[in-house]
Amino acid sequence: MAQLQRPPFVYMNGKLTGWDDATVHIASEALIRGISVFEGIKGYWSHDEQTLSLLALRAHYERLVNSARLMHLPFALPYEEFEHACALLVRKLCVPEKDLWIRPTVYAREGHWGEGTVSDLAITCYHQEKRLPGRIKIGVSTWQRPLDTGLPARIKSAANYQIGRLARIEGRAQGFDDMVLLNPWGRIAEGTGSAVLIVRDGCVISPPSYEGCLESITVCIIGRLCETLEIPFERRPVDRTELQVADEIALAGTLMELGIVSQVEQREMPARAPIFERIRDEYWACVRREREHASIVLTAV
Ligand code: PMP
Repeated sequence: MAQLQRPPFVYMNGKLTGWDDATVHIASEALIRGISVFEGIKGYWSHDEQTLSLLALRAHYERLVNSARLMHLPFALPYEEFEHACALLVRKLCVPEKDLWIRPTVYAREGHWGEGTVSDLAITCYHQEKRLPGRIKIGVSTWQRPLDTGLPARIKSAANYQIGRLARIEGRAQGFDDMVLLNPWGRIAEGTGSAVLIVRDGCVISPPSYEGCLESITVCIIGRLCETLEIPFERRPVDRTELQVADEIALAGTLMELGIVSQVEQREMPARAPIFERIRDEYWACVRREREHASIVLTAV
């Protein structure tokens, strides 16, 4: 698991730094007020081409820039330098036949209530096995995504994951792998680290970001894959009870890819999820460079 790995290098202060030297001060705003924003980027190993490619790197960069702006964290690094920083670390840590998970974080190293903020970009990178996501059991959490005027889900801030963490603790005690968070109107917002998608009458449906979810890059990709596969795709609010009548349910995200749900609360889902299995297989083939699709943008490093 990523959190148990201690890779020898991270990227920090504009250069490669040893794992043990990658520290922030106890009094930094990153720590005392949780002021940081981040991205999770997937690096895919292609066996045929013997290369590692980063998926949707520019889209992740743009969301990181938006998150930093919304948090008033100075972050003026041009895209090319961001790509260079990621590539520097990836080349150092990449090994054949393993995927990578890259986590760039912009954090407040200095500052006080938004005055005199000095930020830095830190990047950590972890190995991952190349394998299709397994089927998952999900519950519905009593914890909620707050309103946009509370803790905006659009900002991929570390603070947003407090709620996800509480939900996962709640879910583990009930035997679930992950939890769905509702919004203040009692409708589906998202998973703790992924978007929620359902299939009803042949149509793939996912809530739009105004329902209290992150602007997911994976859901955008899935929407465009659906177009080519001629599967209807819709963004609209999703009621909690629709989880009980959906034909298929999946969680989607950079790390999760497309995880098909086998159980939701007490409901066992059908053994097969033909529409999500089709999309998942197409996604998998494209990220491994076995097939091409305009929505799957890979940056070889
Ligand atoms: N919601 C949350 C809370 C997440 O952490 C993630 C993963 N980044 C997602 C949704 C899915 O976003 P993406 O597809 O861009 O990874």
